[in-house]
Formats: sequence, structure tokens, C-alpha cells
Amino acid sequence: MAQKRDYYEVLGVDKNASDAEIKKAYRKLAIKYHPDRNPDNKEAEEKFKEAAEAYDVLHDPQKRQQYDQFGFDGPQGGFGGGAGMNMDDIFSMFGDIFGGHSGFGGFGGFGGGGGRPQYRGNDLRLTVKLTLQEIAEGVTKKFKVKKDITCEHCHGTGAKDGAQPETCSQCNGSGVVYKTVRTMLGMMQTQTTCPNCHGEGTVIKDKCPYCNGEGVVKGEEVIEINIPAGVSEGMVVNVPGKGNAGRHNGVNGDIQVLIKEEPNDTFIRNGQDLYYTLLLDLPTAILGGEVDIPTISGKKISLKIEPGTQPGKQVRLRGKGLPAVQGYGRGTGDIIVNISVYIPKTLTKEEKEAVEVFKESDNFKSSNADKKSIFEHIKNLFS
Ligand SMILES: [Zn+2]
Ligand SMILES: [Zn+2]
Repeated sequence: MAQKRDYYEVLGVDKNASDAEIKKAYRKLAIKYHPDRNPDNKEAEEKFKEAAEAYDVLHDPQKRQQYDQFGFDGPQGGFGGGAGMNMDDIFSMFGDIFGGHSGFGGFGGFGGGGGRPQYRGNDLRLTVKLTLQEIAEGVTKKFKVKKDITCEHCHGTGAKDGAQPETCSQCNGSGVVYKTVRTMLGMMQTQTTCPNCHGEGTVIKDKCPYCNGEGVVKGEEVIEINIPAGVSEGMVVNVPGKGNAGRHNGVNGDIQVLIKEEPNDTFIRNGQDLYYTLLLDLPTAILGGEVDIPTISGKKISLKIEPGTQPGKQVRLRGKGLPAVQGYGRGTGDIIVNISVYIPKTLTKEEKEAVEVFKESDNFKSSNADKKSIFEHIKNLFS
């Protein structure tokens, strides 16, 4: 989706999330998508910026209130309407998030804040097939997902018998080691990830036998996923934090749900609009009447047929189509009724005779047709 995602959705928090929850959610995303961890990854950079913009609005009570009230079209030209935030803005915001570690002073563990690089569980991908009705109304789907879960014996630490991992002696727990090297410009100090603890700052002496020191084991979880109304084939709904658990109490991966549409035998979908073919019988097309048009909810709508209705006529039932995904796009789509007329293929002798009478009648001659209005119908089909 190229469209702008809801800020709450971006951070994976609900609308009533506390300031602390928002901060926590952003911190996780900032670590996950940090450019240092994702070199030359355009997509990660976009996600990084997207999260920063969402956090910038939601952690400011005034901006958040405006956003809740007006959405992206807030006063003063809206939020992030222009080029979005630049990287300098984003990094200057980190002091707030990573506890006094102001600016971008080396990602080597977000050291100032006491955090270290965390392992991140892999994302999981699921496919869900939805009926048109589920798409129209939105739906909650339950999945039994096989995934890495936190080891319950060591509570994710990876250490045996409730022991705590010990501080790494090589780096004193910082996760980084310094090396002094001689260069043309003099002595320079470089910083690298500690080879003993791989940057974690801790080492495990006795490994938990259940997870072999990983802190995660193979398991299963039943997960409920809310699919918003209005989705379409090929869209991906991201469910943050429901993927594989990260090693050693790291960050959970996400679940990405790929949307598939089940074909519908009543409607043909075109974006938010639904096309319906109404096959009128000949007498109703000639004399007029009333017919029922189905809708996705199952409720029928009565449609008045004018006498002399021509095949090819289009009638638009406004607001009876599909909603926009979470408010992006136009309101609700329409049902577009394409009228066709059924011509009988077999006739009794009497019927045949009756039609012969019509053949002689002036009113039945096609030379009487209002060609202009027929042309209008056809034009509608291509608009
Ligand atoms: Zn364990
Ligand atoms: Zn170490």
C-alpha cells in the first residue's frame, strides 16, 4: 500500500495506548529499522521514517489530540504532509526515547540508555482467503501458528535453573570492545562488537537444556488477527510483534497476512464498486415494475424499473459498495447495476403468434428507438 498508514497502526498500538506504550512501541521499531542495522535497505529506511513520524505526532499530547480528531488532514495543513521528517529530526528525537542518549552517537548498542542490540525473531507470513462479505464488514480470523516462543523454563534468558546470564568479562557488559589503531592521522580508537558475547554484554555459563541456551523453543500460538474492512487481493496486513520470539528476550517478529479474495458469483469487484448484472424479463422491461437487487449483507434493495427500460442501462446504488480501508480512499463505493434483458429461446405456438402481432406493430420497430439515450448507456459502461 502506497497510502499513508494510520499512526496507531504504524506503531502497532491501540487508540487508547498510554504514553509509555507508545514510547515502547516506537523504541522497538526504531531499533528494528535503524539504518545501521539495515544498511542500503530502502524499505527499512521508509519504515524507520514512518515510525518516527507516527511517534512524533502521538507522543505530543496536542498533536495527538488533533490527529485523533482530524486524522492526517489536521489543521495547519495536516501532519507530515510534505516530505515527512528528515533523518536529523529523527535522530534528535532519540534522546527522549533512549534515555538521555542525545543525538546519534553510535548505534553500538544504544549504550547511553542501557539497551543493547537485541535479537529479533523472524517475521511469519500467512495467507487468508476472504469472502466479499468478510471484506465488506471486516473480520477477525483465528490462526494456530507454529512459531518460536519464549522458553518457559528459563523465561527467555537461556540460562539453566533460573540463573541469570553473567556479565561478559571481555567487554564488562558493554557489548563492545575498543581497539586502538595507528593511522596516518595518529592513534585512533575504533569500536567493534564484542566477540565473546556477540554484543549482548552477557554470557551464559550453564545453558538451559530445554532451549539449548537460545531462550526460544518451537511452539504454537493461537492468534486472532483483525482484518480491516475494504482490503483487496494482494494487500498485506502487518501484525506487529506476533511473529517469532526473539532470542534471549529479544524483539518479536511480525506476522504479515497476505489477503486473497474468494471469487463471488453475484458481484464483480472494481475497487470499491461492485458490478451487478440484472437480467430483466421482457414484459418487465416493456411495462416497468419493481425488482430486488441483492447487496453484500444479504439485504435486498427494491429497484423501480421504468416502462421501456433499454438493455445496457446502468443504475448506480450509491454507498452500497465496499468501504475504504481504514478511511483511505473515498467513502463507500457503489453497486452499479447493469441492466440486461432476457429474450426467450423457445416459444409455444400461442406465444409465437402473440409476438407475430408485435412484429406488425409500429411501436415495436427499432427505428423508433431513441438512439441517443441508448448511446448514453453504452458510454456509461466505459466511464
Ligand atoms: Zn530455556
Ligand atoms: Zn562481551
